[in-house]
Amino acid sequence: GAENKIITEKSLESILEKNRTYYIEGKVADYIPELGKMDAKAIAFSVVAKNGKIFNSGDVHKKFTMQSISKIIALMIAVNERGEADVFNKMGYFGTDRPFNHFSNLETTGKPLNPMMNAGAILTTSLILGNGEKPFLKILDMVRYITKNPTLDYSKSVYESEKSTGHRNRGMFYLMKNNGLISGNEDQLDNYFRQCSIELTAEDLAKIGYFFANQCVRFDGDATYKNKELARLVQSQMLIAGMYEFSGEYARTVGLPSKSGVGGGIAVSVPGKMGIGVFSPALDQHGNSSAGYHMILDFVKQYDLSLF
Ligand code: GLU
Repeated sequence: GAENKIITEKSLESILEKNRTYYIEGKVADYIPELGKMDAKAIAFSVVAKNGKIFNSGDVHKKFTMQSISKIIALMIAVNERGEADVFNKMGYFGTDRPFNHFSNLETTGKPLNPMMNAGAILTTSLILGNGEKPFLKILDMVRYITKNPTLDYSKSVYESEKSTGHRNRGMFYLMKNNGLISGNEDQLDNYFRQCSIELTAEDLAKIGYFFANQCVRFDGDATYKNKELARLVQSQMLIAGMYEFSGEYARTVGLPSKSGVGGGIAVSVPGKMGIGVFSPALDQHGNSSAGYHMILDFVKQYDLSLF
Protein backbone atom coordinates (compact mmCIF):
# COMPACT_ATOMS: atom_id res chain seq x y z
CA GLY A 1 0.00 0.00 0.00
CA ALA A 2 0.87 3.69 -0.12
CA GLU A 3 2.32 3.58 3.40
CA ASN A 4 5.10 1.27 2.20
CA LYS A 5 6.15 3.50 -0.69
CA ILE A 6 9.74 4.57 -0.44
CA ILE A 7 10.48 8.26 -0.01
CA THR A 8 12.98 9.68 -2.48
CA GLU A 9 14.28 13.16 -3.19
CA LYS A 10 12.71 12.73 -6.60
CA SER A 11 9.23 12.22 -5.18
CA LEU A 12 9.64 15.39 -3.10
CA GLU A 13 10.87 17.24 -6.17
CA SER A 14 7.83 16.32 -8.24
CA ILE A 15 5.42 17.30 -5.45
CA LEU A 16 7.23 20.63 -5.11
CA GLU A 17 7.15 21.31 -8.85
CA LYS A 18 3.46 20.43 -9.07
CA ASN A 19 2.59 22.95 -6.36
CA ARG A 20 5.13 25.69 -7.04
CA THR A 21 2.62 28.13 -8.53
CA TYR A 22 0.20 28.05 -5.60
CA TYR A 23 2.00 31.12 -4.28
CA ILE A 24 -0.11 33.08 -6.78
CA GLU A 25 -3.20 32.30 -4.70
CA GLY A 26 -1.59 33.67 -1.54
CA LYS A 27 -0.09 36.89 -0.29
CA VAL A 28 3.11 37.51 1.69
CA ALA A 29 2.30 38.82 5.18
CA ASP A 30 3.03 42.52 5.42
CA TYR A 31 1.30 43.52 8.63
CA ILE A 32 4.80 43.06 10.05
CA PRO A 33 6.56 45.37 7.54
CA GLU A 34 9.83 43.41 7.44
CA LEU A 35 8.01 40.21 6.41
CA GLY A 36 6.66 41.98 3.34
CA LYS A 37 10.18 41.91 1.88
CA MET A 38 10.20 38.13 1.46
CA ASP A 39 10.47 36.56 -1.99
CA ALA A 40 6.99 35.18 -2.70
CA LYS A 41 8.41 32.58 -5.10
CA ALA A 42 10.75 30.91 -2.61
CA ILE A 43 9.70 27.33 -1.94
CA ALA A 44 11.17 24.42 0.01
CA PHE A 45 10.12 20.96 1.09
CA SER A 46 11.98 18.78 3.57
CA VAL A 47 11.29 15.42 5.22
CA VAL A 48 13.09 13.73 8.10
CA ALA A 49 12.15 10.07 7.76
CA LYS A 50 11.91 7.41 10.44
CA ASN A 51 15.60 6.61 10.73
CA GLY A 52 16.49 10.32 10.88
CA LYS A 53 17.33 10.35 7.18
CA ILE A 54 16.86 13.77 5.59
CA PHE A 55 15.27 14.43 2.18
CA ASN A 56 15.33 17.92 0.72
CA SER A 57 13.91 19.75 -2.24
CA GLY A 58 13.84 23.40 -3.33
CA ASP A 59 15.28 26.35 -1.42
CA VAL A 60 16.06 24.29 1.67
CA HIS A 61 18.91 26.52 2.75
CA LYS A 62 16.85 29.67 2.56
CA LYS A 63 16.14 31.12 6.00
CA PHE A 64 12.87 32.63 7.15
CA THR A 65 11.41 33.50 10.55
CA MET A 66 9.66 30.72 12.41
CA GLN A 67 6.92 33.00 13.79
CA SER A 68 4.11 31.00 15.39
CA ILE A 69 5.98 27.71 15.08
CA SER A 70 8.04 28.95 18.05
CA LYS A 71 4.88 28.57 20.15
CA ILE A 72 5.28 24.78 20.36
CA ILE A 73 8.82 25.19 21.70
CA ALA A 74 7.66 27.73 24.30
CA LEU A 75 4.87 25.37 25.33
CA MET A 76 7.33 22.52 25.78
CA ILE A 77 9.58 24.63 28.02
CA ALA A 78 6.77 26.15 30.12
CA VAL A 79 5.23 22.70 30.75
CA ASN A 80 8.64 21.19 31.56
CA GLU A 81 9.25 23.92 34.13
CA ARG A 82 5.82 24.32 35.71
CA GLY A 83 3.90 21.19 34.92
CA GLU A 84 0.89 20.88 32.63
CA ALA A 85 -1.70 21.59 35.35
CA ASP A 86 -0.23 24.97 36.23
CA VAL A 87 0.03 26.10 32.59
CA PHE A 88 -3.46 24.90 31.63
CA ASN A 89 -4.99 26.40 34.72
CA LYS A 90 -4.33 29.74 32.98
CA MET A 91 -5.52 28.81 29.47
CA GLY A 92 -7.71 26.25 27.74
CA TYR A 93 -7.38 23.16 25.57
CA PHE A 94 -9.98 24.62 23.20
CA GLY A 95 -9.95 24.44 19.42
CA THR A 96 -10.84 27.52 17.47
CA ASP A 97 -12.76 29.06 14.61
CA ARG A 98 -10.94 32.36 15.14
CA PRO A 99 -7.88 33.92 13.45
CA PHE A 100 -4.46 33.69 15.10
CA ASN A 101 -4.61 37.16 16.66
CA HIS A 102 -8.20 37.09 17.94
CA PHE A 103 -8.92 38.17 21.52
CA SER A 104 -11.43 35.29 21.78
CA ASN A 105 -12.65 34.94 25.35
CA LEU A 106 -10.12 37.15 27.08
CA GLU A 107 -13.06 39.46 27.85
CA THR A 108 -15.44 36.72 29.03
CA THR A 109 -13.71 33.83 30.80
CA GLY A 110 -10.59 35.98 31.01
CA LYS A 111 -8.37 33.16 29.72
CA PRO A 112 -6.88 32.39 26.30
CA LEU A 113 -8.45 29.52 24.35
CA ASN A 114 -5.19 27.60 23.84
CA PRO A 115 -1.40 28.07 23.66
CA MET A 116 -1.32 28.15 19.83
CA MET A 117 -3.13 31.42 19.16
CA ASN A 118 -1.29 34.63 20.00
CA ALA A 119 -2.95 35.35 23.35
CA GLY A 120 -2.16 31.94 24.82
CA ALA A 121 1.29 31.92 23.27
CA ILE A 122 2.19 35.32 24.73
CA LEU A 123 1.02 34.00 28.11
CA THR A 124 2.96 30.74 27.69
CA THR A 125 6.19 32.64 27.06
CA SER A 126 5.56 34.81 30.12
CA LEU A 127 5.31 31.61 32.19
CA ILE A 128 8.85 30.49 31.33
CA LEU A 129 11.06 31.13 34.35
CA GLY A 130 13.75 33.80 34.41
CA ASN A 131 14.04 37.57 34.06
CA GLY A 132 14.77 39.75 31.06
CA GLU A 133 15.63 37.82 27.91
CA LYS A 134 16.38 34.57 29.76
CA PRO A 135 13.08 32.90 28.66
CA PHE A 136 13.79 33.81 25.03
CA LEU A 137 17.32 32.40 25.29
CA LYS A 138 15.86 29.12 26.57
CA ILE A 139 13.60 28.95 23.51
CA LEU A 140 16.49 29.76 21.16
CA ASP A 141 18.70 27.14 22.84
CA MET A 142 15.97 24.51 22.50
CA VAL A 143 15.51 25.28 18.79
CA ARG A 144 19.30 25.03 18.36
CA TYR A 145 19.30 21.71 20.20
CA ILE A 146 16.40 20.16 18.27
CA THR A 147 17.86 21.20 14.91
CA LYS A 148 21.44 20.49 16.05
CA ASN A 149 22.20 23.84 14.58
CA PRO A 150 24.06 25.95 17.19
CA THR A 151 24.44 28.98 14.91
CA LEU A 152 20.69 29.66 14.59
CA ASP A 153 19.73 33.13 15.77
CA TYR A 154 16.93 35.65 15.52
CA SER A 155 16.50 38.45 13.01
CA LYS A 156 16.96 41.78 14.76
CA SER A 157 15.18 43.63 11.95
CA VAL A 158 12.09 41.38 12.06
CA TYR A 159 12.09 41.65 15.85
CA GLU A 160 12.23 45.46 15.73
CA SER A 161 9.51 45.47 13.09
CA GLU A 162 7.22 43.26 15.22
CA LYS A 163 7.92 45.24 18.37
CA SER A 164 7.14 48.58 16.76
CA THR A 165 3.91 47.42 15.05
CA GLY A 166 2.62 44.70 17.41
CA HIS A 167 0.04 46.86 19.17
CA ARG A 168 -2.63 44.19 19.06
CA ASN A 169 -0.30 41.72 20.78
CA ARG A 170 0.57 44.44 23.28
CA GLY A 171 -3.16 44.94 23.91
CA MET A 172 -3.57 41.20 24.63
CA PHE A 173 -0.55 41.27 26.92
CA TYR A 174 -2.05 44.07 29.03
CA LEU A 175 -5.52 42.55 29.07
CA MET A 176 -4.02 39.33 30.45
CA LYS A 177 -2.02 41.38 32.95
CA ASN A 178 -5.28 43.05 33.96
CA ASN A 179 -6.85 39.58 34.33
CA GLY A 180 -4.09 38.55 36.73
CA LEU A 181 -2.53 35.98 34.39
CA ILE A 182 0.67 37.91 33.70
CA SER A 183 2.71 39.51 36.44
CA GLY A 184 5.86 40.68 34.64
CA ASN A 185 6.62 43.71 32.48
CA GLU A 186 6.93 44.18 28.72
CA ASP A 187 10.24 42.27 28.65
CA GLN A 188 7.99 39.23 28.53
CA LEU A 189 6.23 40.47 25.40
CA ASP A 190 9.63 41.26 23.87
CA ASN A 191 10.59 37.63 24.39
CA TYR A 192 7.54 36.60 22.38
CA PHE A 193 8.50 39.00 19.54
CA ARG A 194 12.06 37.64 19.64
CA GLN A 195 11.02 33.99 19.55
CA CYS A 196 8.83 34.71 16.49
CA SER A 197 11.89 36.24 14.79
CA ILE A 198 14.12 33.14 15.06
CA GLU A 199 15.38 32.31 11.58
CA LEU A 200 15.64 28.76 10.27
CA THR A 201 15.15 26.59 7.19
CA ALA A 202 12.54 24.08 6.01
CA GLU A 203 14.95 21.31 7.01
CA ASP A 204 15.07 22.72 10.55
CA LEU A 205 11.26 22.64 10.64
CA ALA A 206 11.23 19.00 9.52
CA LYS A 207 13.56 18.23 12.44
CA ILE A 208 11.19 19.99 14.83
CA GLY A 209 8.26 18.00 13.40
CA TYR A 210 10.28 14.80 13.80
CA PHE A 211 11.15 15.64 17.42
CA PHE A 212 7.52 15.91 18.56
CA ALA A 213 6.48 12.95 16.38
CA ASN A 214 9.03 10.79 18.20
CA GLN A 215 8.50 11.45 21.90
CA CYS A 216 10.89 14.42 21.94
CA VAL A 217 13.79 12.32 20.66
CA ARG A 218 16.04 14.21 18.24
CA PHE A 219 16.49 13.13 14.59
CA ASP A 220 19.97 11.74 15.39
CA GLY A 221 18.60 9.61 18.24
CA ASP A 222 19.66 11.88 21.14
CA ALA A 223 17.11 11.24 23.91
CA THR A 224 18.05 13.98 26.41
CA TYR A 225 14.49 15.36 26.42
CA LYS A 226 12.59 12.14 25.74
CA ASN A 227 9.06 12.59 27.08
CA LYS A 228 6.14 10.73 25.58
CA GLU A 229 3.43 12.66 27.46
CA LEU A 230 4.86 16.07 26.58
CA ALA A 231 5.05 15.08 22.90
CA ARG A 232 1.40 13.96 23.10
CA LEU A 233 0.38 17.25 24.65
CA VAL A 234 2.20 19.40 22.10
CA GLN A 235 0.92 17.37 19.14
CA SER A 236 -2.65 17.51 20.45
CA GLN A 237 -2.45 21.32 20.54
CA MET A 238 -0.98 21.38 17.04
CA LEU A 239 -3.84 19.22 15.81
CA ILE A 240 -6.65 21.30 17.30
CA ALA A 241 -5.28 24.82 16.79
CA GLY A 242 -1.92 24.74 14.98
CA MET A 243 -3.39 25.93 11.69
CA TYR A 244 -5.59 28.61 13.29
CA GLU A 245 -9.23 28.65 12.20
CA PHE A 246 -8.40 26.21 9.39
CA SER A 247 -7.36 23.53 11.92
CA GLY A 248 -10.63 21.59 11.77
CA GLU A 249 -10.74 21.39 7.99
CA TYR A 250 -7.01 20.63 7.94
CA ALA A 251 -7.59 17.71 10.33
CA ARG A 252 -10.01 16.39 7.72
CA THR A 253 -7.81 16.92 4.66
CA VAL A 254 -4.30 16.31 6.07
CA GLY A 255 -5.02 14.68 9.43
CA LEU A 256 -1.69 15.37 11.15
CA PRO A 257 -0.48 17.64 13.98
CA SER A 258 0.98 20.72 12.28
CA LYS A 259 2.01 24.24 13.17
CA SER A 260 2.20 27.09 10.74
CA GLY A 261 3.72 30.56 11.01
CA VAL A 262 3.10 33.78 9.11
CA GLY A 263 6.69 33.61 7.83
CA GLY A 264 5.43 30.89 5.46
CA GLY A 265 6.70 27.82 7.29
CA ILE A 266 4.74 24.76 8.43
CA ALA A 267 6.13 22.01 10.67
CA VAL A 268 4.30 18.68 10.54
CA SER A 269 4.59 15.68 12.87
CA VAL A 270 3.71 12.22 11.58
CA PRO A 271 3.36 10.49 14.98
CA GLY A 272 5.89 7.73 15.54
CA LYS A 273 7.29 8.26 12.08
CA MET A 274 8.59 11.41 10.50
CA GLY A 275 8.76 15.17 10.38
CA ILE A 276 7.89 17.41 7.44
CA GLY A 277 8.97 21.02 6.96
CA VAL A 278 7.68 23.27 4.20
CA PHE A 279 8.29 26.89 3.30
CA SER A 280 6.62 29.26 0.87
CA PRO A 281 5.88 32.77 2.11
CA ALA A 282 2.61 33.56 0.31
CA LEU A 283 -0.21 32.90 2.77
CA ASP A 284 -3.83 31.93 2.17
CA GLN A 285 -6.76 33.72 3.81
CA HIS A 286 -6.21 31.80 7.07
CA GLY A 287 -2.55 32.83 7.37
CA ASN A 288 -1.17 29.43 6.32
CA SER A 289 1.37 28.96 3.53
CA SER A 290 -0.62 28.35 0.37
CA ALA A 291 1.93 26.26 -1.60
CA GLY A 292 3.10 24.71 1.68
CA TYR A 293 -0.36 23.39 2.45
CA HIS A 294 -0.74 21.91 -1.02
CA MET A 295 2.66 20.18 -0.88
CA ILE A 296 1.77 18.62 2.48
CA LEU A 297 -1.61 17.53 1.14
CA ASP A 298 -0.06 15.76 -1.86
CA PHE A 299 2.69 14.12 0.18
CA VAL A 300 0.25 12.88 2.80
CA LYS A 301 -2.03 11.42 0.14
CA GLN A 302 0.83 9.79 -1.73
CA TYR A 303 2.19 8.08 1.40
CA ASP A 304 -1.17 7.59 3.14
CA LEU A 305 -0.07 9.43 6.28
CA SER A 306 -3.34 10.78 7.73
CA LEU A 307 -3.87 9.57 11.29
CA PHE A 308 -7.44 8.72 10.50
N1 GLU B 1 4.73 37.23 15.31
C1 GLU B 1 3.44 36.98 14.73
C2 GLU B 1 2.39 37.77 15.46
O1 GLU B 1 2.38 37.73 16.66
C3 GLU B 1 3.15 35.51 14.79
C4 GLU B 1 1.86 35.18 14.15
C5 GLU B 1 1.86 33.84 13.44
O2 GLU B 1 2.85 33.35 12.94
O3 GLU B 1 0.76 33.31 13.39
O4 GLU B 1 1.60 38.46 14.87
